[in-house]
Amino acid sequence: MTLQSHSSPDSLTVPVSLGARSYEIVITSGKLDSWATTLNAWVARRPQFFATPSCGPAGKALIVTDHHVGSTHAQRAQRSLNATHWVTARVELEAGEQSKTLVSAAQLYDALAEMKADRRTVVVAVGGGVVGDTAGFAAATYARGLPFVEVPTTLLAQVDSSVGGKVGVNHTRGKNLIGAFHQPLGVFIDTQTLETLSERDYRSGLAEVVKYGVSLDEEFLAFLESHVDGLNRRAPDVLRQVVARSCQIKARVVEEDEQELTGLRALLNYGHTFAHAYEALLGYGRLLHGEAVAIGMVHASRLAERLGRVNAADTRRLVGLLEAVHLPIDLPRGPLDAEAVLDRMRLDKKNIGGTLRFVLPTSIGRVELVDEVPEADLRTLLAEISSREASKAP
Ligand code: NAD
Repeated sequence: MTLQSHSSPDSLTVPVSLGARSYEIVITSGKLDSWATTLNAWVARRPQFFATPSCGPAGKALIVTDHHVGSTHAQRAQRSLNATHWVTARVELEAGEQSKTLVSAAQLYDALAEMKADRRTVVVAVGGGVVGDTAGFAAATYARGLPFVEVPTTLLAQVDSSVGGKVGVNHTRGKNLIGAFHQPLGVFIDTQTLETLSERDYRSGLAEVVKYGVSLDEEFLAFLESHVDGLNRRAPDVLRQVVARSCQIKARVVEEDEQELTGLRALLNYGHTFAHAYEALLGYGRLLHGEAVAIGMVHASRLAERLGRVNAADTRRLVGLLEAVHLPIDLPRGPLDAEAVLDRMRLDKKNIGGTLRFVLPTSIGRVELVDEVPEADLRTLLAEISSREASKAP
């Protein structure tokens, strides 16, 4: 695995090259108390935003966080800003997906108006994907766009949601229906923040990490297989490398297809067509997103086997790694309504003209977007899954 040459082992940097919207992702451990130095360096490189006397190198920042990390990680991030003369305000949202709404965005607009924010005021998200998506959406829309910085504190946010500029909130009719592309000024990742994350949320993030290896980078998959112990212990040196490589893989895809126009970015959705259907049918919250993605990748690989696209040995390798990091490979016990799953899958945004499209593997480290997957094969697979789940001992 090779990263930027100017990276040192205790601080890795992943550049995201998007022309005028380029930025860097800094990955460290235990540096949150002095992270403002990094922000100040990013700001200093953007004179077009920060050249006014009233702003100088340090200006105003709105810190957006949630109740679980507000008094810990967000407070440390805020103190670091204050120590370098940033004028700060902080909004704490309720923790959880129910906060990803226009109501929360309006709360952030009120806070920005209250602090007389202008286009140089930086919105800083300290939290998981919910905080990042909501704060990013407010930043994208207030005064037609404020600079935005992410300090992600869940593994999912560090390897996935903070990379790529997709921001948004949910609508009662669907997740992420209201949103924008708004690239951040930079992303500052301190893997030490993961020490306070619950076991389930940590493992849920690991599913996205496994996804990158199994779908796009065999060398990375081999790295994960040989560092299972470090992953399970949350060893800082392993985490820095794993987070950096995951960000690098996602960044390369985003650089090629920033606004999901060519289909390349859709490859990041390996396992997600099954996962979204299972999450919706079982009820949001029963399975965490990453747990559903782990099961979804196994089922997508089995579908690819059925279509003669991949070897059973590749599915076994995926299952082996997921089990080693204690992620589920099967749905919770109970029968599965195959027609309901199919109905949900028909809503997937990858579909075009009523035909089902899936991201399917061809080998370890390679996936393709496959059009017109025959529904008969999918029905047979779902029937097999259903009979296996139904026959499990209680
Ligand atoms: P989350 O933000 O709800 O965080 C999960 C839980 O962990 C919350 O209770 C939170 O308060 C808590 N938490 C956060 N950091 C913690 C820490 N360090 N210690 C202890 N607790 C901590 O959920 P998530 O899994 O981070 O993100 C899920 C969201 O991300 C979804 O809304 C999803 O749609 C979105 N997402 C966005 C993108 C994108 O490209 N923008 C990609 C993937 C997912």
